[in-house]
Amino acid sequence: MRAIRVNKPGGPEVLTVTEVPEPEPGPGEVLVDVAAAGVNYIDTYQRQGIYPMELPFVPGLEGSGRVRAVGEGVPHFTAGDRIAWAEGLGSYAQAAAVPADKAVPVPDGVSDEQAGAALLQGMTAHFLVNDTYPVADGDPILVHAAAGGVGLLLTQLAAARGARVIGTVSTPEKEEFARAAGAAEVIRYTEVDDLAAAVRDITGGRGVAAAFDGVGKTTFDASLASLRRRGVLVLFGASSGPVPPVDPQRLNAAGSVYLTRPKLFDYIADREELTAKAAAVYAAVVDGSLDVRIGHRYPLAEARTAHEDLQGRKTTGKLLLIP
Ligand code: NDP
Repeated sequence: MRAIRVNKPGGPEVLTVTEVPEPEPGPGEVLVDVAAAGVNYIDTYQRQGIYPMELPFVPGLEGSGRVRAVGEGVPHFTAGDRIAWAEGLGSYAQAAAVPADKAVPVPDGVSDEQAGAALLQGMTAHFLVNDTYPVADGDPILVHAAAGGVGLLLTQLAAARGARVIGTVSTPEKEEFARAAGAAEVIRYTEVDDLAAAVRDITGGRGVAAAFDGVGKTTFDASLASLRRRGVLVLFGASSGPVPPVDPQRLNAAGSVYLTRPKLFDYIADREELTAKAAAVYAAVVDGSLDVRIGHRYPLAEARTAHEDLQGRKTTGKLLLIP
């Protein structure tokens, strides 16, 4: 079968189209014909070795497809089932062996593409606004990269909870998407000298209840300075690079604020939590309250271009690889 393989860490050019043997479903695994593989920013960290990986590997944590075969000890799936997963390395391929306890059923009314597009970023947006900082009606909140994959979903979910979302984006086109997702205010952060001052202006000098920051290095200081007293900085990614070590005293100086650095996998470690989160995301897709914008579909062989576009800030919404 055809797969994308990383033989050594590096730039997008290390994503190599390769013929590899089809995986066998081991105990606790299902073999899936991949319909759509989700591209996520974490794939770029793994490709570069920022998150060290055993080499060689087939990237891609997320995908959707139909079960072709079931390994030993898999009680809850049978051949023919439509499933999706967000923790199954090896998704950039025509077929993948996925740990069955990390896979979820795809309900009717959710297409294969929507299933592969909504799961990882949708569950991320869901835990961020429900669990990490439960967004309340009327909260002013800051969402960086609001037109990105997570950004558009986070903006929609926070706006639905009654938050006044202040989104940041780099281009006028992205501004349109962020507004359509429900951002009440949008700042083009690449064009302002003092981002925190712009946020304070919008909030009448008070600052935001929470800042959701997946950009990291270039936005961290402004996120901290944008918080209201006892506000929460939710640092959940590093698309611009990692944040240097932080002196806890800065949290005191910023107004007794909180800093947290959560990751999805700690919010879906229990199967019950995983299935509940996935079901909530898919239910919102079915009832139309969550619009999963697929920004671009790439043939599997163009994984390199997908990574170049994602890291080059050229994309909005979700990127899919279609085997
Ligand atoms: P996005 O679609 O949001 O793409 C990244 C966006 O970041 C870009 O489109 C760009 O938007 C913005 N950006 C700002 N500065 C840079 C830069 N220097 N280089 C590249 N991009 C930049 O990606 P995802 O939705 O996949 O992920 C968003 C973030 O969320 C990532 O940091 C990811 O690691 C994190 N994440 C964390 C999870 C967790 O559990 N903690 C789970 C899932 C994702 P613009 O052009 O508008 O600035």
